[in-house]
Amino acid sequence: MRVLLLGGTSEARDLAAALVADGVPVTSSLAGRVARPRLPEGEVRIGGFGGVDGLRAALADYDVVVDATHPFALGMSRNAAAACAAEDVPLLRLERPGWAEQALPSWIWVDTHEQAATVAGELGSRPFLTVGRQELARFVPALAEREVLARVVDVPDVTLPPAWVLRTSRGPYDLAGERDLMQDHAIDVVVTKDSGGSYTWPKMAAAAELGIPVVVVRRTPGPTGVLTVTDVAAARDWLSRR
Ligand code: NAP
Repeated sequence: MRVLLLGGTSEARDLAAALVADGVPVTSSLAGRVARPRLPEGEVRIGGFGGVDGLRAALADYDVVVDATHPFALGMSRNAAAACAAEDVPLLRLERPGWAEQALPSWIWVDTHEQAATVAGELGSRPFLTVGRQELARFVPALAEREVLARVVDVPDVTLPPAWVLRTSRGPYDLAGERDLMQDHAIDVVVTKDSGGSYTWPKMAAAAELGIPVVVVRRTPGPTGVLTVTDVAAARDWLSRR
């Protein structure tokens, strides 16, 4: 059974490692967004497939697809659902739960990054943006005059306002480090996507400790009708049953 694992997440790396340990042939696929990606174990391919048609052609080399992309990588999930349905290739979605169950009263939920920008500008003058490089441009109009701290893995293509501080680094981050960072920059509001999971949780815990509000961008539901599991063990079980 040849597995195509659509990745770019810690769960995808964990599943790739488990499948390699199980002796299952797996190819992890990365979009190629970051300059030095953390490579999963096993075979890796990097770059887009060329839309649904390109993915359909690529599926000739695989028996099953696991879509373990980030909950906000909706384009890839939609393409995977369409291509797998068209080629009759089984598809499993591996998606970690969001943070709704851990939500605190100090969190403000919004539907879009533009709304997040507006709300953050109303709540504070020193926002901490942890939304990823691709979304930063959507925050510029509302927060151009604010002293923003933006944390990203790679430098974004957009020109950022002079008052903004860009910090390039890659997690995981711990609670003490997140607390120090927020205090050093006198952060008064944090902005995040509802990424879920524990990997980026320390910033939420630090904000809670410091009494800083958090603006959380809700997830948009992915394609319907796709069998979904929420952790690596369940994905591994599903694959082993096939
Ligand atoms: P996206 O908007 O859903 O996808 C746009 C296009 O990028 C896709 O149509 C596909 O191009 C290509 N692509 C995306 N993921 C791919 C993958 N795993 N392998 C091969 N091609 C891929 O994706 P995105 O939000 O830019 O995310 C890109 C990658 O970063 C994903 O792998 C995701 O897991 C990871 N990531 C995203 C976020 C986030 O907040 N969005 C956060 C952490 C990690 P073609 O149409 O040419 O096939």
